[in-house]
Amino acid sequence: MDCIFCKIIAGEIPGKKLYEDDELLAFYDVHPQAPLHFLVIPKKHIPTILEADAVLLGKLLAKAKELALGEGCEEKGARFVINCKEDGGQTVDHLHVHVLGGRPLLWPPG
Ligand code: AMP
Repeated sequence: MDCIFCKIIAGEIPGKKLYEDDELLAFYDVHPQAPLHFLVIPKKHIPTILEADAVLLGKLLAKAKELALGEGCEEKGARFVINCKEDGGQTVDHLHVHVLGGRPLLWPPG
């Protein structure tokens, strides 16, 4: 499959891994937009949030939160983002949760 995140899961291209279990993988974003920027993804290829069920979304967000706390975000917080398709700014068609922290982030997005 021609999916860059599936290739990271398969070990075909490198990724700086933060966490891995049977279902989920977390790794640091190659183009960080904040001092802390990592992604949490399902190992199963699911293109967008629209194809994900509630159980998986719960696991993704719970793991994103747990890892953010482990990365020191408890005091100042972080941003948890899921981009979806063209209008959502999704560039990789494999569901992922962004976690960004370590600096104040602007709102609303451009
Ligand atoms: P999105 O725009 O929500 O689809 O975000 C995709 C993210 O994947 C971007 O923040 C990219 O910097 C990141 N990305 C793309 N390729 C890689 C890679 N090989 N390793 C880590 N992060 C990547």
